[in-house]
Amino acid sequence: MTAPATPESIETAGRIVVKVGSSSISGERAGQLGPLVDALAGAHARGADVVLVSSGAIATGMPFLQLQERPTDLAVQQAAAAVGQSLLIKRYQERLDRFGITAGQVLLTASDIADPTHRGNAERALETLLSLRILPIVNENDTVATHEIRFGDNDRLAALVARLLRADLLVLLSDVDALYTRPPGEPGAERIPFVAAGDPLTDVLVTETNTGVGTGGAATKLAAARMAAEDGIAVLLTATERVEPALAGERVGTWFEPARAAAPTR
Ligand code: GLU
Repeated sequence: MTAPATPESIETAGRIVVKVGSSSISGERAGQLGPLVDALAGAHARGADVVLVSSGAIATGMPFLQLQERPTDLAVQQAAAAVGQSLLIKRYQERLDRFGITAGQVLLTASDIADPTHRGNAERALETLLSLRILPIVNENDTVATHEIRFGDNDRLAALVARLLRADLLVLLSDVDALYTRPPGEPGAERIPFVAAGDPLTDVLVTETNTGVGTGGAATKLAAARMAAEDGIAVLLTATERVEPALAGERVGTWFEPARAAAPTR
């Protein structure tokens, strides 16, 4: 398998890791979960190995703990995640049912991937799920690790999973349609459609944001995108609502050219 060299060749990607954040699939955007699953099922149907890295456990669990707002207490966040995680998987599975696809829940931490024994176990389990055509849905294991809760870093976990599985493509979905030269909305912010391999992006100003139900922002996405691209994995950063055209090879979002990319065919 090789990383697609251009967005147009995305359909040649044999193994795809897609990451979605809490705010894209909960609250008033909860309706995006269905179209997201439809797009994943489309890639699965053409034979790709598809892995979803999804946050959203805390946001999904909040109403069941009678919480109107994201809790600030870490233990309560973990409790909400414990309640929400199973419901989140249930929602994904309900939508996957119409395609006859089974989800497999995988809860991981970045330190699991750093530990050779845990990494080997995770890799074997994920490879087996993929060989069975099951769609793994990965999230941080929030009761034992709180890195994502504190730093919004499921983006990094997604890049680590993409590396572990030697994925061809990492798709980072968020509420913003692309990478901009400055925070979008600020005067002079320009959309960046393409980032060449090794481009240090010195003129780009990114800041962290907190969206209310989730954490993370452009900085964690950019760091994850660069990490994956340096590993030879093509990266597409776009909005969750554009996942369908993105996986169909339309020019959306920001494309990070992978290092050691295959020579363009034209
Ligand atoms: N892993 C947690 C979740 O899925 C954390 C998300 C977050 O802090 O945004 O809810």
